[in-house]
Formats: sequence, C-alpha cells, structure tokens
Amino acid sequence: MAGTLGRSEKKRRARNHYLLVVFDSCRYDSFVRARPRVMRKLGRVERRWSYASWTSPAHYALLMGLFPHTSPRHVFASQYYKREFLKFNERLGCRDFEFKSLVPKLYLPCFLQETLGYRTHAMVSLPVLNPKTILNQGFDTYRLMPKHNDMRAMLREMRFSAEAPSFYLLNVGETHYPYALPEEPPEQWPRLSGIHGVFRDLDGQMIGGKLLRAGPKFFNPTQLEALRQRQIRAVKYLDTVMEELFDLVPKNTYLTITADHGDLFGEDGYFGHGPVQHEKVFEVPFLEGKIR
Ligand SMILES: [Zn+2]
Repeated sequence: MAGTLGRSEKKRRARNHYLLVVFDSCRYDSFVRARPRVMRKLGRVERRWSYASWTSPAHYALLMGLFPHTSPRHVFASQYYKREFLKFNERLGCRDFEFKSLVPKLYLPCFLQETLGYRTHAMVSLPVLNPKTILNQGFDTYRLMPKHNDMRAMLREMRFSAEAPSFYLLNVGETHYPYALPEEPPEQWPRLSGIHGVFRDLDGQMIGGKLLRAGPKFFNPTQLEALRQRQIRAVKYLDTVMEELFDLVPKNTYLTITADHGDLFGEDGYFGHGPVQHEKVFEVPFLEGKIR
C-alpha cells in the first residue's frame, strides 16, 4: 500500500537513481546531425514519436510514463503499453513494475515518491511548466529555473542522497527557440518582428502554427536554415554539459534522454510547434541507458 513500506523495503525495491532529461523542441534530425559523442555512449539513438505536439501535454504524457512511442503496426495499444512499462524495471532497478503499478493516479512522480521512496525533483526551463501547474504533483521540489536556457545551472543544484534513490526531471531549454546558449547575449538572438522579446510567453502558442500571409513578417528560408543550424549547435553544446552530468552522478544512475516534441523550420509553411499537424513536430530522439 502506498506510503506504508519500511525504508529497507523501499531500498530493496528500487536500486537506481533515475534521470529523465527532456530537450525541449529538439528534433530527431537535429539531434542526429549534431553527432553527440557523450550521449551516444548510453545506447542507440531511436527515432520515436511524441504523444503531443506541445510542451504541457507532452510533459504530462512523459510523467504518466508514456514515453515517445515507436508507432508499432498490428499491435493493440494495451499490449504496447504493457511491454513499454516493463522497461521501468530496468530504469529503476526494480522487479515488479508494470502499468497497473501506477493505478489510480497514473502519475510516475507520485508512484516513485509514495511507493518506492524516491526523492523526486523537477527543474524546468519553460514557464508553461511552472510550479503552479498541475504537473507539480508527487515532487519533493519543483523549480522553474531563472534562465530558460541553462542546463549547466541545473547540474549545480542536483543532490543525491545515500538514504534513498533520486528521480530528476530536467526540462532543458537551449534547444527551444531562439536556440540560444547561456552565454550568448540576448541582443544577438535571432529576432522575429511581432513575436520576439517577451520571454514570459516562451513556448506560448504564438510561436507555433502555420505561417500567416498577413501579420508579423516571417523568417525567410535563409533565416530558417540558420535557426535549424542553431538547434544543432545547441545539441552539440548540451553534449558537453552531459559529460559533466555523467561525471557527477553516483553509481546506479539510469538516464533517459528525449524531447517533448519537434519543431518546424519552414517545412510545408510551418514554423515552431503547438498547433501544427506535421510529421516533424512529433518526431523526436530517444535514447537511454545506465550511466554507471
Ligand atoms: Zn516544448
């Protein structure tokens, strides 16, 4: 029963620290093109599909344990879920995890905290995921980071207890428009007249959707290609931050890296994500493995 296990029982049932790292808006092809050296040590980079095209519902699905799917044919959804959820045994280092373990809340942080005794933490970059949202359930700590694009700052805040396993959700913003690295001065960020500048609205619907014929002047093809290259550069940069993460985590740490959705760079008249029905907004990278 939730919350009633003794400490030794909890320790017996989960051996791994578990990190879920979400590169916000990172396209599968941007990730592959960046050829990340460190992250690929975890395992093969899979091409998967997000359950949603926008940050909030995509993170809700992730925190339900519904990780980006493989879009299998000729398989019932229930069978697929059953198989996918068994992988949490490997991720958490336990033996008895299955889909029904999450019933009735169907929310991974609550299960990890209440049943397996995890210390649960979230650090998020996008204001739409802020601590006042309903996503903040089952977390011991949940922080909106001061900057939207500084994963390295998250590493400085990470703590691992010897008493209990830790779970961290890291929502990383360097891969989100405007694909800026933390040391890059805002005046050098790409600008789009009409939508730029108010980062309180970061990841608002305004930067997703079909290009308008009227309204704000849009990026031209050269600018869109430059933006795509900036996302690839962000992944290369994040590979160096990941190297530091690999060095700081304790033994028995398992890591999943994915994205909440992709981004459009002008394909078929779209830019960004959100109200977009296009293959590239659902296509995301997925890789995971034990760090040590
Ligand atoms: Zn997002």
